[in-house]
Amino acid sequence: MIRAVAPLRAWVSHVRTRDETVALVPTMGALHKGHLALVRLARRRADRVVVSIFVNPTQFGPTEDFSSYPRTWDGDIAALSQLSVDAIWAPNIATMYPDGFATRIVPGGPAVAGLEDKFRPHFFGGVCTVVEKLLLQVAPDFATFGEKDYQQLKVVTAMARDLDIPAKIIGLPTVREKDGLAMSSRNAYLSADERKIAPTLYLVLQECAAQLKAGQSLAQTLGEGEAEIERSGFSVDYLEARHAETLAKIATLADGPVRLLVAAKLGRTRLIDNIAV
Ligand code: AMP
Repeated sequence: MIRAVAPLRAWVSHVRTRDETVALVPTMGALHKGHLALVRLARRRADRVVVSIFVNPTQFGPTEDFSSYPRTWDGDIAALSQLSVDAIWAPNIATMYPDGFATRIVPGGPAVAGLEDKFRPHFFGGVCTVVEKLLLQVAPDFATFGEKDYQQLKVVTAMARDLDIPAKIIGLPTVREKDGLAMSSRNAYLSADERKIAPTLYLVLQECAAQLKAGQSLAQTLGEGEAEIERSGFSVDYLEARHAETLAKIATLADGPVRLLVAAKLGRTRLIDNIAV
């Protein structure tokens, strides 16, 4: 467990003297099988794996769930020790954001696509600022991110390219529960009744993809999909079809490759999901 930048850098330097490669897996803890799959992917790519655990305050809005975000420290450490992770980078807030901290990355492109950014205007600035710091602190050869947060994966990939960050950003397909619900730390917020409803998001995404492939129009497909999600008890923030790489709006399937993305609230829990068409 490493808690300060200097010993982290010393550890990375030591590894580098042996010509070993390093992969970073950034997380906010409350680890589930999706995170552990990211660690396994990192393990396949690099000789050494660093997992960071940091609940990043700058990516939460003032009315969001920073203080109540699940923190399961002991379970996280136990899970990572099973996977023979080489280092756990666990800075505290003062280490990441010392007094006087006054710099923030302002991402454009996929970060202003009108999806998550429309509902969480603080989010990608905070994500990019912390991910940039983590990438500078660890200086990995690879960093792994989940497709579960699809827009985030595109934003981080664009940032790494734009700022000449040498780490290669690698995406991992979404890991799901047996009933299709995308694994998420926030699933812990769901009541038993909400948990039964939650897989609707993925089911509707699949239905929409099938209808689009069968030739149904985007407007009709997304309109019916949104209505079905609302009927199940969610309040929909967005259900959209976008270009899978740029996240630009599309008019027809032929403008693709297409990705369907959804965000919706079930009680106090906001869930997101996405699939390829
Ligand atoms: P978080 O701790 O929620 O910030 O997530 C840390 C990393 O895990 C991010 O790259 C997420 O996209 C990824 N992740 C979260 N849930 C899943 C999942 N169900 N499948 C794959 N990756 C995931």
